[in-house]
Amino acid sequence: MLGKISTAGLGLALSLVLGCGQCPPATAKSTLVNTQGQKVGEATLIETPQGVQIVVKVENLPPGEHAFHIHEKGVCATPGFQSAGGHFNPAGKHHGLKNPAGPHAGDLPNITVGADGKGKIEAVAKSVTLKEGEKNSLFQAGGTSLVIHADVDDYVSDPAGNAGPRIACGVITR
Ligand code: ZN
Repeated sequence: MLGKISTAGLGLALSLVLGCGQCPPATAKSTLVNTQGQKVGEATLIETPQGVQIVVKVENLPPGEHAFHIHEKGVCATPGFQSAGGHFNPAGKHHGLKNPAGPHAGDLPNITVGADGKGKIEAVAKSVTLKEGEKNSLFQAGGTSLVIHADVDDYVSDPAGNAGPRIACGVITR
């Protein structure tokens, strides 16, 4: 019993000294809506040593492969979601996971939606963080968002992979 208390006390002391070494990893979430503002999905984000892991589940979307990106503004105004801005790109790169001059930090693999309108993707955004105050943090002053496009991302065409209109959007929040 005493041992447990001591360990907890030590953990607390270390947390205060090291800036929360014992704390759980930073997390974030997002609720995605379609162009009519109806909820079509949810995402969870978690800080890992490799980057930010993003897990997204969607429903009621058109079947097929769709581009999926982190965008540079945390505003999802229907119906076109132009308010979300371009791809999150703090390092000033070109678009595309297969572009030698890329990718944007916000570039992610395509999400596949089945015939039932449902889809899921698990991806790691290697060049972003949930730590506040960093240039590549997803918690920017104006926020950031997740966006799904009508078409497939070809992974090379600058600036947005030739991915067509935006069909779903969700602001990234705590
Ligand atoms: Zn991009």
